[in-house]
Amino acid sequence: MVIKPRIRGFICTTAHPQGCAENVRRQIDFVKSQGMSEGQSIKNVLVLGCSAGYGLASRVVSSFALGANTLGVSFEKEPAEEKTASAGWYNNIAFDQFAKEHGFYSRTINADAFADATRENVINIIKQEMDKIDLVVYSLASPVRQHPKDGLLYRSSIKPMESVLQIKTVHVEKGEVSEITLEPATEEEAKSTVAVMGGEDWEYWIDALAEADLLAEGAKTISYTYIGSRLTWPIYWDGTLGLAKADLDRASRAISEKLTTIGGKAQVAVLKAIVSQASAAIPVVPLYVALLFRVMKRMNLHEDCITHIYRLFATQLLDGVEQRLDDEGRIRMDDLELRPEVQKVVSQNWLKVTTENLDELGDLEGFRSDFLNIFGFGFDDIDYELDVDPKRIFDFG
Ligand code: NAD
Repeated sequence: MVIKPRIRGFICTTAHPQGCAENVRRQIDFVKSQGMSEGQSIKNVLVLGCSAGYGLASRVVSSFALGANTLGVSFEKEPAEEKTASAGWYNNIAFDQFAKEHGFYSRTINADAFADATRENVINIIKQEMDKIDLVVYSLASPVRQHPKDGLLYRSSIKPMESVLQIKTVHVEKGEVSEITLEPATEEEAKSTVAVMGGEDWEYWIDALAEADLLAEGAKTISYTYIGSRLTWPIYWDGTLGLAKADLDRASRAISEKLTTIGGKAQVAVLKAIVSQASAAIPVVPLYVALLFRVMKRMNLHEDCITHIYRLFATQLLDGVEQRLDDEGRIRMDDLELRPEVQKVVSQNWLKVTTENLDELGDLEGFRSDFLNIFGFGFDDIDYELDVDPKRIFDFG
């Protein structure tokens, strides 16, 4: 079949197998161009949420910058007759293949990371095929979680807390700037969001690995958060998502305490805004990202997903680095995004932006292009007119 992007709101329901492989290959090429850090203590890495966005980038850096063995878990849709898989499914196959070609151990599990059965499976694989884990990257972004204890299905909501919010947003396809009204979350919705996106599942993972004695001496675990600028606080940091992210901070302290016996620690890293499947779904964020990208690109401060994660590892996670922490002990990687000179212009443009001047003040094209890329579209070297089998990513499989 000929595979074209089919965009419905903030998701693309198709993905291009070869384009996804190209997306992974480009990330690997970038990391390889930076050179390898030999002799690091991070040798065995577990990435939860490995198929896309920051999790995939963390896996690429772990293998291709550190030479680490990686085990990845993600929950992706397989292809069917005349139906493409989800992008992450292709990304995983591509990553495993490229890692193998370079001689790195890589194994990927397609399963619900919230389920105890997945933890058991992962534990068995580590016992059989890997050494104890030095780094656990927790990078899940999910709209739902079936709780492993009570079996209930929790759904996350992206809503403000307490009062109705009126705020600017953009319709990404149409390029129309408008104001939306968002009703505040109920107590139940807020609790459910914490159940899905908070820190409990991260704790369950580390507990299970520690109980199975599969964490190496000095093991680290890291989870990703977003704080961002005041412009997005009403929908993010001060909303249901911020509540869930505050719970990650709680979990990070609780996990660190448990890891003291092995000299390990848990940390939350505050990352910058990028275009991912998860971030595209948050109202307001695409408009903020479009304005931010314009300013950061002009100031030569722009980072994409892989360059950002490479900097995280190189400057904050490797042996002997001096970490840049805030009062909560979080690693601050949003230093460039939050520079006063960046935020000053973004804030001024936020007030001024309309449908008519969006192209001048913002980089919606950059947002759209990154969005297409994450589904394997928009790469010059891929012929999108060719008939392809959605079940085959490489010629041989
Ligand atoms: P993403 O949508 O690109 O990737 C999410 C990953 O989670 C995928 O691998 C997906 O398969 C996996 N996943 C979802 N549900 C799962 C389940 N039940 N079982 C197993 N795997 C599952 O997301 P992202 O934007 O890279 O976000 C990752 C983390 O980074 C999140 O905590 C997010 O809050 C944080 N973060 C994102 C941004 C941003 O701008 N995108 C900024 C700062 C922090």
